[in-house]
Amino acid sequence: MVLRAGDLNPQVLRFDRADPVIAHAANELRLHLGGIVQTGNAGAEITLESRGGNGDGFTVTVATTGVSIVGEGSRGALNGAYWLLEAVGFLWVRPGETGAVFAPGKVLGEGSYSDSPSFPTRTLILGNDALHDEWPDWLEFASRNRLNSVFFHDTPPSVLDRGGASRPATAEGIAEDGKGWMFERWDRDGTAILKAAADRGMMVQFGGHHLPALVLRAHFEQHPDWFPERDGRRDGRYNLCTSSSGAMTELRARARDFFRRFRGASTYHLWADDILGGGWCSCRDCAELSPSDQALQATNVLAEELATIQPGSKVAHLAYHDTITAPAVFSPGTNVSALYAPRNRNYAYPINDPRCPRNREDHFGDLLQLAETFRGRDLAAFEYYSDAILFKWMAPPNLGILPFDASAYRQAGVTDFGNLAVTPRPWIGPTWHAWWFARCAWSTDADGQTSLRQFCEAAFGEDSGNALQAFRSLEEAYLKLLDLGELQRIPRHDVLDFSDSPRDGLARKAHELGEARDIFRGAIEAFGTGKDALGRAFASELSVQSAAVEHLSARIRAWDAGLDGRAREAGSEIVEARNQLDVIGRWAAEHSPAAYANLSRGMLRAARWHTEQIARTAGLADA
Ligand SMILES: [Zn+2]
Repeated sequence: MVLRAGDLNPQVLRFDRADPVIAHAANELRLHLGGIVQTGNAGAEITLESRGGNGDGFTVTVATTGVSIVGEGSRGALNGAYWLLEAVGFLWVRPGETGAVFAPGKVLGEGSYSDSPSFPTRTLILGNDALHDEWPDWLEFASRNRLNSVFFHDTPPSVLDRGGASRPATAEGIAEDGKGWMFERWDRDGTAILKAAADRGMMVQFGGHHLPALVLRAHFEQHPDWFPERDGRRDGRYNLCTSSSGAMTELRARARDFFRRFRGASTYHLWADDILGGGWCSCRDCAELSPSDQALQATNVLAEELATIQPGSKVAHLAYHDTITAPAVFSPGTNVSALYAPRNRNYAYPINDPRCPRNREDHFGDLLQLAETFRGRDLAAFEYYSDAILFKWMAPPNLGILPFDASAYRQAGVTDFGNLAVTPRPWIGPTWHAWWFARCAWSTDADGQTSLRQFCEAAFGEDSGNALQAFRSLEEAYLKLLDLGELQRIPRHDVLDFSDSPRDGLARKAHELGEARDIFRGAIEAFGTGKDALGRAFASELSVQSAAVEHLSARIRAWDAGLDGRAREAGSEIVEARNQLDVIGRWAAEHSPAAYANLSRGMLRAARWHTEQIARTAGLADA
């Protein structure tokens, strides 16, 4: 006996109505199965129950008489409901209604099926206003793909007090303001967000680089000693002096305001300034403390205040840039968790791959140290698989590295595996990168080729063969593009801006980028134009990624040619690099709601600046 979607009767459900998560699971089964034409023998009854624990695992038992879903906890039962829906043909390939797709023909045999997640916490990090504007869709997408945590994070950082100003309606207004608007979003929707998350058994995390904002720079004139000493002088820029009792008193008071205003999160993030080098204090009392210790000292104070306002919640200590190494002097408070963010790693190799010393020694080594310092506490990995800022408008599939990353993180003791979604432009069509992350967060044994086939069949229907071929080529192109090789990073430049040091490393990179560009062109040809709505959207998605690949390739090839004195070649590559930025700008203007402008405008400006720097190096600058 096998069951098809049409054999399941959505009207015959037994469940505990008093449990909101179980009730939500029942609603989801009704919503999805209610749209399916019932077969003649429809009527397999579904029952839903929770064993009352906290686990996210489940057992689904399929028999001729019906289907029983039993969760370790109620979120486990909800996961079981989604497992069942997937087994009979449903998949959620992008946020929103268009992303819930059904492929008929799947059958489920009699038997008992059990599953449980590789990580207790699996987090989708929503990193900018435009994504927050669509939070109901993204939260549902995360929940249906069995993530159990959503993190409201803001890039660029929001402003605590705007004196009542409201968010501009136009892209120009947003760009001119240049800051984030997450705090206003939370003031308006926070209660609804907490309710939606609770109904799905999900946690909420909240915050970003907000530590410096708690000690207003306006205090500098009256209290210069609250601020860091640099080169023998107090400096009102970046962070604070954690040895100053005045600064710490102020920090405590403002932290209390923050936790009261943004009540309800399970973990808060109040990180230091997002800079590399020069952010911390070298006064007599701080001089011996590393940036990590200064940051942890501040975080411990925040955590003490949080414990009095919202016991049970946590504050994260961020290991990133200057604070990537573990603190050595101070110990984390009992409600301080660790958050490891390896933004400068190499995305062509898994995080612990012995073939990539940059990842294995420089980054993964830091994580292992951090795990030791934070033993017994939550340890989160803040990963960047859906970061179109880091990836410069592009969207690598991360097909090969993600399961290896997941395994490495699990072995290192990571309890919360998170994926930052942040972007200067909307993702059009199916969001493979976010879907595939969720897959690997659920199971470190996820199989890339099987999952890719399943995704393509659901998302692209009769185009799925072309899509599979296109994705395999995209993977190949991006591995070449993303490999940092031995190139050293230029301070305050982003990793994919690459560098000319060592010089032959740049020559190799230029060559690789040419190859990546050619393979990318092949991927676009393989996919074609797309026959249905999701396919047509994906063709457009590929066109903006293509412009970004062509731009970066031309820019780096111009750099290499210019340094070699191949002036004509450098000249034509510079023209191409400029043209492709215009293509990106036009695409963004056509497809992006205004809210993207606080990221897109600055990113285009930076890319133009880098391009003209290279033009100058090659003696090709515009007059
Ligand atoms: Zn100091």
